[in-house]
Amino acid sequence: MSRFWSDVVKGLTPYVPGEQPKLANLVKLNTNENPYGPSPKALAAIAAEASDALRLYPDPNADRLKSAIASYHGIRPAQVFVGNGSDEVLAHVFMALLKHPAPLLFPDISYSFYPVYCGLYEIEAGIVPLDANYEIRVDDYIGRANGGIIFPNPNAPTGRLLALSEIERLLQHNTGSVVVVDEAYVDFGGESAIALIDRYPNLLVVQTLSKSRSLAGLRVGFAAGHPELIEALERVKNSFNSYPLDRLAIAGAVAAYEDEEYFQACCAKVVASRERLNDALAELGFKVLPSAANFVFAQHPQHDAAELARQLRERSIIVRHFRQPRIDQFLRITIGTDAQCDALIDALKEIVAN
Ligand SMILES: *Cc1c(COP(=O)(O)O)cnc(C)c1O
Repeated sequence: MSRFWSDVVKGLTPYVPGEQPKLANLVKLNTNENPYGPSPKALAAIAAEASDALRLYPDPNADRLKSAIASYHGIRPAQVFVGNGSDEVLAHVFMALLKHPAPLLFPDISYSFYPVYCGLYEIEAGIVPLDANYEIRVDDYIGRANGGIIFPNPNAPTGRLLALSEIERLLQHNTGSVVVVDEAYVDFGGESAIALIDRYPNLLVVQTLSKSRSLAGLRVGFAAGHPELIEALERVKNSFNSYPLDRLAIAGAVAAYEDEEYFQACCAKVVASRERLNDALAELGFKVLPSAANFVFAQHPQHDAAELARQLRERSIIVRHFRQPRIDQFLRITIGTDAQCDALIDALKEIVAN
């Protein structure tokens, strides 16, 4: 703390990202990155853009990327907002659409950036507990006064999927505030709510290229919704940073959307490894929540989760453990390659046997 700090800064509780250890030969299963590299076409487009062109500012509206995303999802560019990772998109969403006198509703077990943005923007958090099976119950959100609703689907860190019909039921009962569906993991087993944006002017869907498109290092995310919602986001963005996406990011992201075959192949491999890992964990006595994401959330009835995480780390395997009520006995394990999953299972076999 310094006397130069503003009152706002003194009161902040920042988000703590998963570790990015600077060690070689780690089996890194802690931050839900894709184990496969980006599309070679995206890498080629980035290399081509790394030229004299970098002397010039990028397109502040990233129109090429908005068009690529719009045509991929069968919507209009005016229904698309892009940002420097979906975290930045979400930050603008909180400021532009969720900052109201009534509380913002979100699950108790959810993406831990939501309470952080509430703190930053002074939004009251209305915490809605997941049910006993760690599922979102739409009925718990219906009829509650709110200034907005936000949840990931599939949820993080549980991996559990809410059916699109349930999201639609929520939208039918909640017409007076914006409902944000954070689809960071939807490509690994969910159905996107983007299909509903033409029918629900208060629905905003947020996606990222960080997970399913293997571009966490490029920092690209987007929101899809009614043009008036998008306009609100543009107003905040243009009051904050005119050029959130650099030239390399725009070029790489556009090319990523043009390589459908590679994208589908990577997602299929991750999903196959997830099912394989599920079975292997179950065989070791773990209880694993059904996951539609690129991670699993698992607990062992006889072994403390923090201790398991510590022992895995001794074997150079990093998974995520949250010291948080209700989930402190779970490990969140990112789906790696089959070889990485095998290394994890071999290590757990040794640990659990003792
Ligand atoms: C990873 C993640 C994000 C952030 O993704 P970026 O685009 O890399 O900022 C947002 N929401 C959830 C639920 C995530 O897991």
